[in-house]
Amino acid sequence: MKANCWYGKHDVRVEQVPDPKIINPGDAIIEITSSAICGSDLHLYNGYIPTMYAGDILGHEFMGKVVEVGRGVRKLKIGDRVVVPFPIACGRCFFCERQLFSLCENSNPNAWMAEKLWGHSPAALFGYSHMLGGYAGGQAQYARVPFADVGPIKIPDGLRDEQVLFLSDIFPTGYMAAENCNIQPGDTIAVWGCGPVGLFAIKSAFLLGANRVIGIDRVPERLRLARDKCGAETIDYEAVDVLAYLNEITGGRGPDACIDAVGLEAHAHGPVGAYDRVKQSVRLQTDRPTALRQAMIACRNGGTLSVPGVYGGFIDKVPFGAVVNKALTVKSGQTHVHRYLQPLLARIENGEIDPGFVVTHRMALEDAPKGYEIFTKKADECIKIVLSPN
Ligand code: NAD
Ligand code: ZN
Ligand code: ZN
Repeated sequence: MKANCWYGKHDVRVEQVPDPKIINPGDAIIEITSSAICGSDLHLYNGYIPTMYAGDILGHEFMGKVVEVGRGVRKLKIGDRVVVPFPIACGRCFFCERQLFSLCENSNPNAWMAEKLWGHSPAALFGYSHMLGGYAGGQAQYARVPFADVGPIKIPDGLRDEQVLFLSDIFPTGYMAAENCNIQPGDTIAVWGCGPVGLFAIKSAFLLGANRVIGIDRVPERLRLARDKCGAETIDYEAVDVLAYLNEITGGRGPDACIDAVGLEAHAHGPVGAYDRVKQSVRLQTDRPTALRQAMIACRNGGTLSVPGVYGGFIDKVPFGAVVNKALTVKSGQTHVHRYLQPLLARIENGEIDPGFVVTHRMALEDAPKGYEIFTKKADECIKIVLSPN
């Protein structure tokens, strides 16, 4: 089959690779109809996530048709159309029982690698380094899906791929980020980053009852989408003093909750940006926490800091004093996607949201390398790319 493979920083290639096979009785093989490129893939593409090996198949946002099932699979049948959640979860361990699917303790065969860095290992993820399981991803014609009775959700006929594909990650991710804010009537929520995750966080904050949502970015078409399609007020962090602005519109108090939907590749201008880039390039820190710092300082006393943005390792000059002295609640995590599949599919079916609004580019799988280049540069007004293998 054809698959998009990682070869190093800024080097991905579409190659002919062996077809996946059933390995365990609970596996299914999916023939992929659509997959997407995520902001998280950029951290791999830009070389920030360790334990990627040459030839690894990328992609963790994908859907398709079941073409083969292991003898232990009960719920899925050949021909079913499914969306696959990006974390791999067994459905019956300590964490899965508590609905903490992205922390499943049975899916990562390389847990020892993650334990070295973080103390304990989270669940494995599709197409996301050997430290997180070494599973082949879904930017390919086929993928093997372990625990096939636990993860994939069946999609009824009548919904297009683009309406449901983002159940695999970014819609639940934005939703969990907003849910983590414990939104109360009247709340003002600030969202750093108006990429796909930030846009779904904004939408979800309104679905969960926020009064005002402020989207922060500098890319004009992303700010426009945040306003026009998601109902946010927006600010360009290069043109406006973000902290002063947020204080001004909240009577000096600050937003009730702040969402960092940027993560470890935050951009910053001026001396702070230079400081972070130098520290990161000489490996004195692994991540650039510009948005995180700002969100901590902006948040009102007793408020919530919700961090869907991915950080890999160590960060520097983080004002943790603000967390303690302002009594902030911090919530984060890779998304427990499985929890959100049914309820968010219901919201799509009843017309509350059409997640396809983020798609700007549709490309053939063969063009994935071009897609990564465009998406990482935020060129051509690119917001979200959908790849189709056929
Ligand atoms: P993206 O790269 O398309 O979007 C990031 C946005 O942040 C861009 O629009 C960029 O202009 C903006 N930005 C950069 N620096 C900023 C700053 N200082 N202030 C405000 N905005 C700034 O990526 P995405 O797909 O939207 O993903 C966003 C983050 O969410 C990534 O870190 C990704 O890894 C993470 N993510 C996490 C999960 C999870 O389960 N927790 C799932 C999916 C994605
Ligand atoms: Zn993703
Ligand atoms: Zn589990």
